[in-house]
Amino acid sequence: MDAIEPLEDVVARIRASEQGPGGLNAFLSLADDAGEESVPTNDLPLAGVPVAVKDNLATMELPTTCGSRSLEGYRSPFEATAVRRLRAAGGRVVGKTNMDEFGMGSSTENSAFGPTLNPVDRGRVPGGSSGGSAAAVAVGYVRMALGSDTGGSVRQPASMCGVVGIKPTYGRVSRYGLVAYASSLDQVGTFGATVGDAARLLAVVAGHDPRDATSADRPVPDFAAGTDDSLDGVVVGLPEEYFPKTLDSDVRACLDEARAALEAEGAAVRSVSLPVTELAIPCFYVLAPAEASSNLARYDGVRYGVRREAEGVVEMYEASRAAGFGTEVKRRIVLGTYALSAGYYDAYYGAAQRVRERIRADFARVFASGVDLLLTPTAPEPAFRLGEKLDDPVSMYLSDVFTVPANLAGIPGISVPAGDAGGLPVGAQILAPWWEERRMIAAAAAVERRRAGIGAEPS
Ligand code: GLN
Repeated sequence: MDAIEPLEDVVARIRASEQGPGGLNAFLSLADDAGEESVPTNDLPLAGVPVAVKDNLATMELPTTCGSRSLEGYRSPFEATAVRRLRAAGGRVVGKTNMDEFGMGSSTENSAFGPTLNPVDRGRVPGGSSGGSAAAVAVGYVRMALGSDTGGSVRQPASMCGVVGIKPTYGRVSRYGLVAYASSLDQVGTFGATVGDAARLLAVVAGHDPRDATSADRPVPDFAAGTDDSLDGVVVGLPEEYFPKTLDSDVRACLDEARAALEAEGAAVRSVSLPVTELAIPCFYVLAPAEASSNLARYDGVRYGVRREAEGVVEMYEASRAAGFGTEVKRRIVLGTYALSAGYYDAYYGAAQRVRERIRADFARVFASGVDLLLTPTAPEPAFRLGEKLDDPVSMYLSDVFTVPANLAGIPGISVPAGDAGGLPVGAQILAPWWEERRMIAAAAAVERRRAGIGAEPS
């Protein structure tokens, strides 16, 4: 094992780079050199490994702002289970990463603390909402990072920054201490410089937690060992709805290579159909804002964050929320409150719930038909320019068109680098049935291996 570098050196290097001309604004806070434990014991799975953590996971020694003015300087009195587990495994939190406010966005431009830049092209977004974590891994500050994925926020930035991102099955990782955006969709996810890195971090943070009633009491497979699993006999479906005629031609070419890599390693590929896919975006953008409008009611200036004094208590709430929340968060609260209001509840929220069930059934049917995995693009296009979609929320929302169905269904997904489009990274997404993360990790590792030119010799 490599010698463990002192955390203060890692943090000092990140700080110097972030303060220099090439700074990415990837971090909202960095670990204080003081108070860090001495060299961790070597036999732990993440002994000494520096890990970046998205700023919506509660930490006690660093602020937890969710990229929001409303939580500026907020210190949690407890730690998220995922963070506690990564520390218990010997990992060390180097800092908290930038994000779209409360996870609402696809570009990290909705952070109250300025956008994160894509390290591959600093004129472009890193994707989002976990853009800080993706950029931190892509630029090499850390090999691993934690994020959260409600509609694609781990997979989509992984694709745009050229790193690996895993969204596990809903319930695989505890949400305790993950600040809620849309609770029925939120999952903690992992980033890695390689499939193995993302899988190792997932193995450490996964598992049952009595503090999260939706966390599953199921055994955690050895995810990292999945990178060596054979694909012989594995059937991979290509859902036609994820390859529209309008798909970017470079993205399509990268997916062709990913498909060839899976076939070269023994998988059989066939075309499948998931016809309800076209309803996923409208369904998601009713359900996620509805849940968000309820979850964000707690930021009323009484117990949390920004408070603006005013005449009466209602005026105080209004002034505090107006000052604390950014434009996109306000838009979601208005949309969500409307969708849940008496008289419209069944037409919007109820209808979206029924569509959600059909999307889940679509996946269940395909997986029951002998298909083990699905291969799709992660995002319809590579990283777009800063500012390009800021005035057009619908075009921003469409950035999630291939990632939201997995959240609606609760199935796991991984994005693995699959090539580039004019120098910009392109990710392939592999989706698996509920609890079959290990199989999807095996397939992603095959794509990674073939791209590195180290495919298994024919036996
Ligand atoms: N981009 C989607 C949204 O804005 C999903 C973001 C996420 O996964 N947190 O809601």
